[in-house]
Amino acid sequence: MEAKKKKISIIGSTGSIGTQALEVIERLQDKFEIIALAGGSNTDLLKQQAQKFRPKFVYAAKPFSIAGIKTVETLEDICSNKENDIILVAVSGKIGLKPTLTAIENGIDIALANKETLVMAGDIVMKKARENGVKIVPVDSEHCAIHQCIKDISQVEKLIITASGGPFLHKTLEDMKNATVEQALAHPRWHMGKKITVDSATLMNKGLEIIEAHHLFGFDYDKIDVVVHPQSIVHSAIEYVDGSVIAQLGLPSMHIPIQYAITYPERFEGIKSKSFSFADIARLDFEKPDFEKFPCVKLAYAAGKTGGTATVCLNAANEEAVFAFLNGKIKLYNIYEITRTMIARHTVITNPTVEEIFATDESVRMQTREYINEITHS
Ligand code: MG
Repeated sequence: MEAKKKKISIIGSTGSIGTQALEVIERLQDKFEIIALAGGSNTDLLKQQAQKFRPKFVYAAKPFSIAGIKTVETLEDICSNKENDIILVAVSGKIGLKPTLTAIENGIDIALANKETLVMAGDIVMKKARENGVKIVPVDSEHCAIHQCIKDISQVEKLIITASGGPFLHKTLEDMKNATVEQALAHPRWHMGKKITVDSATLMNKGLEIIEAHHLFGFDYDKIDVVVHPQSIVHSAIEYVDGSVIAQLGLPSMHIPIQYAITYPERFEGIKSKSFSFADIARLDFEKPDFEKFPCVKLAYAAGKTGGTATVCLNAANEEAVFAFLNGKIKLYNIYEITRTMIARHTVITNPTVEEIFATDESVRMQTREYINEITHS
């Protein structure tokens, strides 16, 4: 008898994570049935995906019709459909938050590749997940690694998140201050979207991941360490109370964490370029992160400890600053200075509602854009 197929929808199927998820699903065709695909502006790719994978529903920013496939009006229409066993939230940005909450309220498990969901509203999201008995399995490689290492969370002493260090790891602070967009986008290990690649250059990405880890696993910030590991082979680790350290290793491919998250708790043969060999890798290096050169990490720790809307402010100010950098308006190092200034000006709401979170996000973005205009026109 054929095993029951897992019913899945993908929010953000045309992005970097979404397309790789479809590659995984294509290989595991007998394990999955696709309920819905949702895409943004890349209508052509979404159409191709719909024709190839034949979901029941499609959500497109610019609607189109394919015979036999229904179009839905909103992402919430997909996320409230209880036919889904699991939803992969693979969009980037705050647009991921509401669909995730809708899915959780409907008791649907989540494979989470959207950082903002936890950075902006981690307290609300994790509380709702607990109340609804929903599993949230992280796709982010570091958190996926930690998820794989944890057997009994009550015996874990601390989390150790690895960071590749990005393109400026061994450059000087001066080099970093004068970095061009091109240099910032030249990430040595991972090919990702532009925003997250700039975040990897400033290490803000690691800062956001510390906040994600805090919410996902319920650890205090002083129990979450960051270590630089340029080879990106050790994807993260945990230390147990008895001193034993468990790490998850693998070649740097997002197919692995994506497959883990959508097939959990089962495992199947995956897409592998080659088999893992310690001898081929030969050496693994580790070093302390330089917080003077990468102050965004400290900023994120501080915002996380403050909690409430502080992390909403951190995320919004950083993202606006990254856009300004990508548009040639500011230098790379200004991203930190701008984000720090916006956090210093922000009045924190301690237990914000979802509405207050979105309102804070909007107002911080506006103020950040105004501030960037002031400093670039004076
Ligand atoms: Mg990551």
